Amino acid sequence: MSDSAFSQRLLHWFAQHGRKDLPWQQNPGAYRIWVSEIMLQQTQVNTVIPYFQAFIQAFPDLENLAKAPLDRVLQHWTGLGYYARARNLHLSAQRIMQDFHGEMPHDLNTLQTLPGVGRSTAAAILALAYGQSQAILDGNVKRVLCRYQAIGGYPNEASVNRQLWALAQALTPAARVAEYTQAIMDLGATLCTRARPQCARCPQQGDCQAHQQGRESDYPSPRPRKVLPVKCSYLLMLQNPEAQVLLQRRPARGIWGGLWSFPECSSETGIYEWCWAHLQIQVQNYEVWQAFRHTFTHYHLDIVPVWVQIAQGVREKDKMPPNSLWVEPDKPPGGLPAPVVRLLNALPKNNYVHEI
Ligand code: SF4
Repeated sequence: MSDSAFSQRLLHWFAQHGRKDLPWQQNPGAYRIWVSEIMLQQTQVNTVIPYFQAFIQAFPDLENLAKAPLDRVLQHWTGLGYYARARNLHLSAQRIMQDFHGEMPHDLNTLQTLPGVGRSTAAAILALAYGQSQAILDGNVKRVLCRYQAIGGYPNEASVNRQLWALAQALTPAARVAEYTQAIMDLGATLCTRARPQCARCPQQGDCQAHQQGRESDYPSPRPRKVLPVKCSYLLMLQNPEAQVLLQRRPARGIWGGLWSFPECSSETGIYEWCWAHLQIQVQNYEVWQAFRHTFTHYHLDIVPVWVQIAQGVREKDKMPPNSLWVEPDKPPGGLPAPVVRLLNALPKNNYVHEI
């Protein structure tokens, strides 16, 4: 297989099946291409089309966009999300007017100095608007290339990314680059889709290694799971002789914001300190239960439940910590995190002889 066989097959397929009536393909100047590429960065084609049309109507050229108040630009972005894209577009338009006499730069490095324009976006602008032979590597293209050469590893990992750029450059032809660029984007968007790629209709199926191995769904490799940091918290299950337990409402911000939980401390010595500081009691005995892990988006929380049986006489109002109440374990208030429910269920429900 030669590198040119890939582009020839792709161009042949594109001539018959490619998308040629997208609004930014009509009068495809650099400005329209640039706006479409920025809109397409995190959004699908069908969603982008009406936004693109309205945007171009409101800001038909670079000068109009540069002069427009940011609020108006953002207004035309409402619903597209990722608003930094609109702010960068606006800022870039002003920079182009000021530093480049109102004309989009024609070289890869200069284009990449504009806010929000990365290497692949810059290459797409140059290829589609100016016909320069520049390789692109957006998410769709990464998927096609990972499968085509069965390239393992997460595509955004530096060494894999380098390999993919090298392959993208080797496959990009010197001529008919605008068509090729649109074609490889179309292949990724319409046939070599993330789920259920339509290999039977793909022009590359004869050479595609993932397809030959029947392992299309193994490529590209998913983002590696992050190793989450581990934190530890001692949850104090303070239970009085009437079997009531102390709950505290958590601050509105932060984990379990506004929910009811047990008082907590970060170490075993903190148990004594907390009880003395908030209830003026000296703890002599407590029982450490089996720790368990609760996972949040950004970290694991190792929860160490500590059962502290306390004497009578701590229910007076002046001894109550702020935002707290004594409840029977089987009649808690609403709004409890799952681990707290689990621990409440494990606590004794009846009077017992306290040990302190
Ligand atoms: S043969 Fe299948 S997996 Fe390979 S590039 Fe084509 S659609 Fe993608």
